[in-house]
Amino acid sequence: NKTSSSNFIKNIVIDDLAAGRVKEIVTRFPPEPNGYLHIGHAKSICLNFELADEFKGRTNLRFDDTNPVKEDVEYVESIKQDVKWLGFDWDGLFFASDYFGEMYERALLLIRKGLAYVDDQSADEIRESRGTLTEPGKPSPYRDRSPEDNLALFERMKNGEFANGEKVLRAKIDMSSPNVNMRDPVIYRIVHAHHHNTGDAWVIYPMYAFAHPLEDAIEGVTHSICTLEFEDQRPFYDWVVAQCEMPSVPRQYEFNRLNLTNTVMSKRKLKQLVDEKVVDGWDDPRMPTISGLRRKGYTPEAIRAFCREIGVAKSYGVVDERMLEHFIREDLKLKALRTMAVLRPLKVVITNYPEGQTEWLDAENNSENEEMGSRSIPFSREIYIEQDDFMEVPPAKYFRLFPGNEVRLKHAYFIKCEEVVKNEAGEVVELRCTYDPETKSGSGFTGRKVKGTIHWIEASQAVPADFRLYEPLILDESDEDDAEDKSFLERINPHSLETLSGFVEPGMKEAAAQEKFQFFRHGYFNVDPKDSAPGRPAFNRIVSLKSSFDA
Ligand code: ATP
Ligand code: MG
Ligand code: MG
Repeated sequence: NKTSSSNFIKNIVIDDLAAGRVKEIVTRFPPEPNGYLHIGHAKSICLNFELADEFKGRTNLRFDDTNPVKEDVEYVESIKQDVKWLGFDWDGLFFASDYFGEMYERALLLIRKGLAYVDDQSADEIRESRGTLTEPGKPSPYRDRSPEDNLALFERMKNGEFANGEKVLRAKIDMSSPNVNMRDPVIYRIVHAHHHNTGDAWVIYPMYAFAHPLEDAIEGVTHSICTLEFEDQRPFYDWVVAQCEMPSVPRQYEFNRLNLTNTVMSKRKLKQLVDEKVVDGWDDPRMPTISGLRRKGYTPEAIRAFCREIGVAKSYGVVDERMLEHFIREDLKLKALRTMAVLRPLKVVITNYPEGQTEWLDAENNSENEEMGSRSIPFSREIYIEQDDFMEVPPAKYFRLFPGNEVRLKHAYFIKCEEVVKNEAGEVVELRCTYDPETKSGSGFTGRKVKGTIHWIEASQAVPADFRLYEPLILDESDEDDAEDKSFLERINPHSLETLSGFVEPGMKEAAAQEKFQFFRHGYFNVDPKDSAPGRPAFNRIVSLKSSFDA
């Protein structure tokens, strides 16, 4: 089910360098600071930075902050942090709003050339009159204003003499173009709002489609890579660069955006999940944000490997989220300490083990990586096992504990269930077992075999811990991420989070935030950086041990 990685943009770069069309590759990652970055952005980040790196070029981080209403410095800081964490260093750090002066000058140039005009029509009237794919547009009654009139009106727009929406500046191109984007698009609008960077200096703001090519050209970007929705905008992009007489000519290339199964990815929807408290903030481990994935326990290496594997193409598709899980397992397999944790504890008393005695057993740290060495874990008369590892009336092929059956305790001994202790409600609260000292792990005992091996934690030194298990937040096979789709709130999985309290080994008492472990039989876990308390770590399950995606 793996897609082969392909990168048609890389081939374009190779051709451009070979033909001498560009001397150096310059790319940019241009987020709008209106939310936290998500895994889709990671695809764009990896593409832009790795492409430039490969050809010894440069990559800018540019905040596309041309819309004053939705933007915030909190987002700026989180975006910088996430790009760095992913392992990339930008060459230039820019804000599109720093170019407002230059953009304004370029708009004046268009007006003087007779290529832009002030329109008094309302947004609805303009939308109506631009027509559709099958119906040509109708020229605005204000289309033939003279450059002098337009310059004067635009000046008055800039000076704040008009209300929001009263007037706009439009490019004057072709109202009958087969490409609706070329039918005199709006390039400036009036917004009386405070901007996070420029404050109250401006009340007119450039539209994205006008601003973006100028930003690229100002920075000398050579390859401006964006997602496929912008394909129809490319003629206008080229028009702006040419008619504004920009000295450097960037080229736009489009690739397929990342969609993941059971995941919504547009920032608007993610913000809604945060605002409506469906999740516990942008970094909730159930969120597909970089900060959520980090808190869940994903590593930059795993995310980068995933982005490389999915590749870059020009066709739409939805990637199975299990593919992302595959890469974190691969990354942690040889790195993570393999320890034991009991998530749903059941007390076991080993009746023939001497009271008051503790022995220390040797436990290897990673059975696939000897270099990780071993640790000592205590064993004594009282231990905890997993409630699931006992059944009073076992079904066929149940090889764990049941009355009269014997199992191996990982790193320790065989134990046999002799007696079941219940409370007044009839629930099993304790098992009384015996152990066989001959069967110590590593002793070479071959006298008899058992079919089940279970994990455990010695009771007196057990460290209490919380465990958070996750399921997909969104109940759906696929999500094309239609920004207008509101139904995703009805598809929230009510069981996306399960919290359990159990025990881990004594050596994990002071586990550091973000430290990752493989818990025997349970999967990979990360020490939560916010909810862990001294002596009581909280663990987020990153992923279970196996899936059909693993080789
Ligand atoms: P959203 O809809 O999530 O807000 P956006 O495209 O509006 O996404 P921007 O901050 O403008 O968000 O995006 C910055 C860059 O990241 C853009 O170049 C955009 O093409 C890219 N990008 C955003 N979402 C994805 C995605 N799902 N897959 C690949 N690239 C993406
Ligand atoms: Mg956006
Ligand atoms: Mg969007």
